[in-house]
Amino acid sequence: MYDIIIVGAGPAGMTAALYALRAQKKVLLIEGESYGGQIVESQGVENYPGFTEINGYDLAENMMRQLRALQVELLPAHVDGIGQTDGGFEVRMGTKTACGRAVILATGLKHRKLGVLGEEQFLGRGVSFCALCDGGFFRGREVAVVGGGNTALQDALYLSELCARVTLIHRREGFRAEEALVEKARKNEKITILTDTVVKEIRGEMTVRELLLQNVRTKEESTLAVSGIFEAVGQIPQNGAFASLVALDESGYLTAGEDCKTDVAGIFAAGDCRTKEVRQLTTATADGTVAAISAIAYLDAL
Ligand code: NAP
Repeated sequence: MYDIIIVGAGPAGMTAALYALRAQKKVLLIEGESYGGQIVESQGVENYPGFTEINGYDLAENMMRQLRALQVELLPAHVDGIGQTDGGFEVRMGTKTACGRAVILATGLKHRKLGVLGEEQFLGRGVSFCALCDGGFFRGREVAVVGGGNTALQDALYLSELCARVTLIHRREGFRAEEALVEKARKNEKITILTDTVVKEIRGEMTVRELLLQNVRTKEESTLAVSGIFEAVGQIPQNGAFASLVALDESGYLTAGEDCKTDVAGIFAAGDCRTKEVRQLTTATADGTVAAISAIAYLDAL
């Protein structure tokens, strides 16, 4: 029986593990993919205090090195369910199970992807999901942003401060984003808006060179020369496996406040997977801290 089982080894989960291990708790950290979460996709993190710039992969490695020094037990497995037991919780991973007195869910988010040819090939070499993290690499160059929500509009506006030209590509005419943002983008001379348009292919050699576009009404195809494409087509929480036990909001995020407590005593939610306003690396690590301290207090009071 573990004291704390942490599901997800992104920045939130790894920070939670750091605090729990330093508090001498018996911890199991479970990760279904590679540890590091979304930051490993970032070419350079420039907004994490203490590092002027650090490659996201290196930052994740640093975090894990710190945990290894504390003898972290990292289990590569995909969690597909959670249940309540007499002494705590049973975390299910296919045919395997692990039991813990408390659980911290730090499952993060997955960027929705376009699913077009070239997307995987140029990931980190022109294809990005984070303008704030990677925009600086495209200073003075031409880029595209895909999406019609607040993130896409904010990304386009942010990138227009750095890049020579930003083309905002949206699949229909109406925007999901706030009108004020759309107006601001329309008035921005560096932003060109292409509506009713989809990306069909991302092309290049070592890095992105151009996009193959299609107008969804006329079916006409064209190419757009860009060095980078920022995909902002929404995020998908990964909390379906916990829905039978823990409350989710209407968008599928774990319902938990700033104290990271879910509606089930002993289960905590940390990072992007929980209902919150600001989803950044710094807020994820902050959540990891809060969730671990809350979990430790919960265990100590049992
Ligand atoms: P979002 O609002 O879900 O918008 C995603 C956009 O991507 C939509 O315009 C959607 O098009 C488009 N899209 C989805 N799948 C696509 C596909 N396969 N191909 C092409 N386009 C596709 O996502 P978000 O902008 O990341 O925002 C998420 C939430 O955070 C929202 O509630 C948003 O308001 C909030 N947010 C708030 C702020 C703020 O400052 N207040 C900033 C950022 C985000 P359709 O419109 O056609 O569906």
